[in-house]
Amino acid sequence: MPSLETLAVHASLAALPPGTPSSPPIVTASAWTQPDLETLDAALGDAAQGFVYARNAAPTQAAFEAALTALEAGAGAAAYASGMAALHGALQQALAGAPPKLVVAAELYGATQTLVKQLAAQQGLALRRVNIRDLAEVEAALQAAPAGGVLLCEALSNPLCHVADLPALIALARAAGARTVVDATFATPYLLQPLTLGADFVAHSATKYIGGHGDVLAGVVVAAQAADAAALRQARATLGSNLSPFDAYLALRGLRTLPLRVREQNRNAHGLAAWLAAHPRVAAVHYSGLPSSADHAVAARILRPGCFGAMLAFDLAGAGRAEVFTFMQRLQVIQRLATLGDVATLASYPAIASHRALTPEQRAALGIGDGCVRISAGIEALADLTADLAQALAA
Ligand code: PLP
Repeated sequence: MPSLETLAVHASLAALPPGTPSSPPIVTASAWTQPDLETLDAALGDAAQGFVYARNAAPTQAAFEAALTALEAGAGAAAYASGMAALHGALQQALAGAPPKLVVAAELYGATQTLVKQLAAQQGLALRRVNIRDLAEVEAALQAAPAGGVLLCEALSNPLCHVADLPALIALARAAGARTVVDATFATPYLLQPLTLGADFVAHSATKYIGGHGDVLAGVVVAAQAADAAALRQARATLGSNLSPFDAYLALRGLRTLPLRVREQNRNAHGLAAWLAAHPRVAAVHYSGLPSSADHAVAARILRPGCFGAMLAFDLAGAGRAEVFTFMQRLQVIQRLATLGDVATLASYPAIASHRALTPEQRAALGIGDGCVRISAGIEALADLTADLAQALAA
């Protein structure tokens, strides 16, 4: 099995026929010619391989799906127009035929919290929010009637970067007959591969690290079983939530350098976390790479050795919205953007961005205080980033 670095560069071409250009072409066709109507009939009936109509499958997107399938060691993938569409697809497929229950990590990206609430209300699902770091609580929720259902968590949580103990969580889900969906947007396949740990689905907002350059909105789900991957694509073909060819091209182009970027971003995040932890205006740093972190042991056990993620968060001491705004407004190099996973280092204020859908009380219950700032480390020189933070934190 080639290493991730090699797969990232080469895997996308495996899906394309011989004679294909050496970089995957952007194919914008909405339909493909067929030699005769018998062939068209067979292709539309899924009796033959090949491209027929772009809502079913298309070459640039297929190349992207092939690459992700290889990187996540899955059986097949479906690419979507956004990370949210990908999560929706994964949850619907995981729930198909399962007891109507969703057990979800209490700490999730805000829009994902809205999504699970909507799904539960519309489909009459029992929705249980659990502290994913409390395995006894997770087990009780999974075992409660109706036993099983679907477990959803983020491998590294948004925004506090808690590390889910996936081997333990997946074992609990399996014991209860539940299927597991892991959002690995923050982790990327470089840090861990949830399917190899027994998860049923791994979802990514490819808008983030996979695309990597802040110029695309995209999502992808990789399934452990081929039947699930086929069902994902079938459901997507009905809805038309497909990734466009241009966006698939950008996501693929970014993907080929994913390991290089993420390695540097991890180094910078570690450096920033250590620097911030020593600053008098910083009350707490949320980063599993710090030995003081409660997640350090889990992270060291399940993430790629020496890597703890490129995301971190910190609490500005005694700060609320006004102080955080002043601090963020002073940043010169670090960009204020409501996204992550870019080559540029980004700062975001969860209270008004990723977690604005939550009430202040809900955020506080999760440990997301009014002084909490989230950082997505880029690939710039660390010294320039710490200098920027130092001037912005200067009283
Ligand atoms: N999952 C996580 C962890 C995210 O942070 C985000 C967006 O920030 C999403 C999913 C949704 O992705 P998208 O914006 O591509 O729909």
